Amino acid sequence: MGKYKRAPEEVIALVEQVIYDWHDELAEARIGILMRAEAPVSKGRATMSKSKKMADDMRAYLDYDFVIWFAADWWLLLTEEQRTALVDHELSHCRMNEAGETSMADHDITEFNDVLARHGFWWPSAEKTMEAVQPHFEFIAEMSGNGVVEAVSPEHFNEADVLDQVGGMFGDSKQSNGSATHADIEPGEDEDE
Ligand SMILES: [Zn+2]
Repeated sequence: MGKYKRAPEEVIALVEQVIYDWHDELAEARIGILMRAEAPVSKGRATMSKSKKMADDMRAYLDYDFVIWFAADWWLLLTEEQRTALVDHELSHCRMNEAGETSMADHDITEFNDVLARHGFWWPSAEKTMEAVQPHFEFIAEMSGNGVVEAVSPEHFNEADVLDQVGGMFGDSKQSNGSATHADIEPGEDEDE
């Protein structure tokens, strides 16, 4: 049994829909989609998907700008809304400018649940994150101003140092060589890949 398999038509259709809805900049991009049979698990976290920019020397073999895989085992467990968000997430890593040049974008935020619980949206550029989550959590709007979601004084933090730690919104490690992983769900068991 191969590690990768052909993506079903419903996955392709969803990726096309998400590009149409929110990723105009990828309308001309060539994106290859694969299903991986099982999500790789590292330190108790499953990686549900991964996107990668195609290296120039690989294009002779696979003529794509980006290749994205989704883990088939997790895909089955996700709701349609979660699948849409996961596709949106991976497509957000994939950038193409008007000249057709491709690049990978990093996550906007990464944080520990415990740190969020203790300090709220503390980092210097947290307003954008608060604006993004507010429509989803009405109670945050009610809490704003009482100190719970107050940012820690930015002068205590060198923003470059903070951003340097922004390797993954979901706790994945720093990106390297143009790839990014997505791993925000902790499965019940902890096993190495
Ligand atoms: Zn990601």
